[in-house]
Amino acid sequence: MAAEQQKRRALVTGASRGIGAAIFRQLAEAGMHVNATATSQAGVDKIKETIAANGWQASAAIYEAGTANSVEQLLEAAGPVDVLVCNAGINRDGLAMRMSDEDWRKVILVNLDSPFALARACLRNMTKNRWGRIIMITSVLAAKGNAGQANYCAAKSGLEGLVRSLALELASRSITVNAVAPGLIETDMTSKLMESEMGKRLLQIIPLGRAGSADEVAAAVSFLASDQASYITGATIPVNGGMLM
Ligand code: NDP
Repeated sequence: MAAEQQKRRALVTGASRGIGAAIFRQLAEAGMHVNATATSQAGVDKIKETIAANGWQASAAIYEAGTANSVEQLLEAAGPVDVLVCNAGINRDGLAMRMSDEDWRKVILVNLDSPFALARACLRNMTKNRWGRIIMITSVLAAKGNAGQANYCAAKSGLEGLVRSLALELASRSITVNAVAPGLIETDMTSKLMESEMGKRLLQIIPLGRAGSADEVAAAVSFLASDQASYITGATIPVNGGMLM
């Protein structure tokens, strides 16, 4: 790996578990200095234990999307960012007719407003260096839609639109902006679904016949974060076992 790449500083949101934890691990193992976030001190402490156990160049910080000054405080803790991975995401499912304003707004806030605010805050350093990687974790549902997830699908589709617009704005500075769109991945977010009848039906429409792992998503992110991905921008990379083609 190029020495330059080893010195790069990455920021991964929602790195305490699931897909974010796998992205954190893969970028740290690739030699980047990774700043990993969780919403609680307990989450941060757990990340710090992992860092110490593996001897990574990494740090951990609290980040809860939407709380006062959260982006400013996080960027202060993380320092300049070369590789931004907006992974933190939530769902608050329900049919649109019964969806509360609160559930709508919370999902848009965490899954769309927060990635925009973070990207905007990281751009000064990337633009100055004429190098940067912004990777947004979206979802197969951004393109498909899903009954009971209007808020989640609207946020993830919005994020893919943001990716394409930022890619156009930043291309001349060698900053690439891409999305990785996972399908059904085994994490806390999908644990209830996986056990349900709907989960079993979903598995039947996945050509590869199984759910994916967090590491399989992280592999696509690691590639997009690398120098090897320098000619990919404005793209959405599907990691969904063939669920949508
Ligand atoms: P998990 O629920 O396992 O983990 C979510 C992560 O986000 C945790 O680290 C959590 O921190 C953090 N987080 C939660 N709320 C906030 C908040 N308000 N502000 C900042 N961070 C927060 O999710 P997954 O790993 O399954 O999902 C990761 C991403 O992948 C999400 O964007 C999700 O939408 C997307 N995705 C997942 C799919 C799947 O099948 N799992 C499919 C398609 C997309 P803490 O531990 O402190 O709570």
